[in-house]
Amino acid sequence: MLNIGCHLSTSKGFAHMGREASSIGANTFAFFTRNPRGGNAKAIDPDDALALREHLKANGFAPLVAHAPYTLNPCSDKPHAREFALQAMADDLVRMETFPGNLYNFHPGSHVGQGVEVGIELIAETLNEVLTPDQSTTVLLETMAGKGSEVGSRFEELAAIIGRVELSDHMGVCLDTCHVHDAGYDIVNDLDGVLEEFDSIIGLSRLKAIHVNDSKNPLGSHKDRHERIGQGTLGQEAFARIVRHPKLRDLPFILETPNELDGYAEEIRLLRELAEG
Ligand code: FE
Ligand code: FE
Ligand code: ZN
Repeated sequence: MLNIGCHLSTSKGFAHMGREASSIGANTFAFFTRNPRGGNAKAIDPDDALALREHLKANGFAPLVAHAPYTLNPCSDKPHAREFALQAMADDLVRMETFPGNLYNFHPGSHVGQGVEVGIELIAETLNEVLTPDQSTTVLLETMAGKGSEVGSRFEELAAIIGRVELSDHMGVCLDTCHVHDAGYDIVNDLDGVLEEFDSIIGLSRLKAIHVNDSKNPLGSHKDRHERIGQGTLGQEAFARIVRHPKLRDLPFILETPNELDGYAEEIRLLRELAEG
């Protein structure tokens, strides 16, 4: 069975997200660990957390894919911004242990003119400060579209970051289909070729989750505008190949398409259908 869900709001608590996921046919989901823009985190209610853990177990959920706020930039040129990213990630990793064994995804960051090498170095430094030997969470670098000075639009950059992390057993990658396509990887016409490239540069064993989004823009546009599944430049056939691919089909798939809950329920149904061929 395909493991699929979408991004959900934490506003009604953790247990509510579990029930909401189940109500739309999902068996995983994504959520922001804290306010995606401001960076504040609410205290975790232990009863609410317990209720979600029980729901996940009772319903056989796949690993959840938590998302760090967009505002974190571990490779900013401003020391206070780097320090904020470090503190927020360290705190998120403590909070993630409330739900052991899940995934925590973040955007590597933007080097803002310092150059990609400096960016890679600063991101790895941050990871070397926040990772702990006995954490149960795997931290994922998201593949980026390469807009502005984003680091992580090339597999080589992600591999270089992971290669500099001491506790790299706790590191993985989340492949965003819109982002890799916009970055110039042709997953529509050459999915196997792209996955071979990923394998030779990063290693497919690092691939832990898929953000499943269509794109509003052409291959290599470096734009990052998500579209609903089948309504963008990737198209439904590409997603059929993606969800059926033997190297991908057992991973958690997370939708981040422009949708409300009803639309997500429909996309989940569509992708489950495509997965079964
Ligand atoms: Fe993301
Ligand atoms: Fe994404
Ligand atoms: Zn995106």
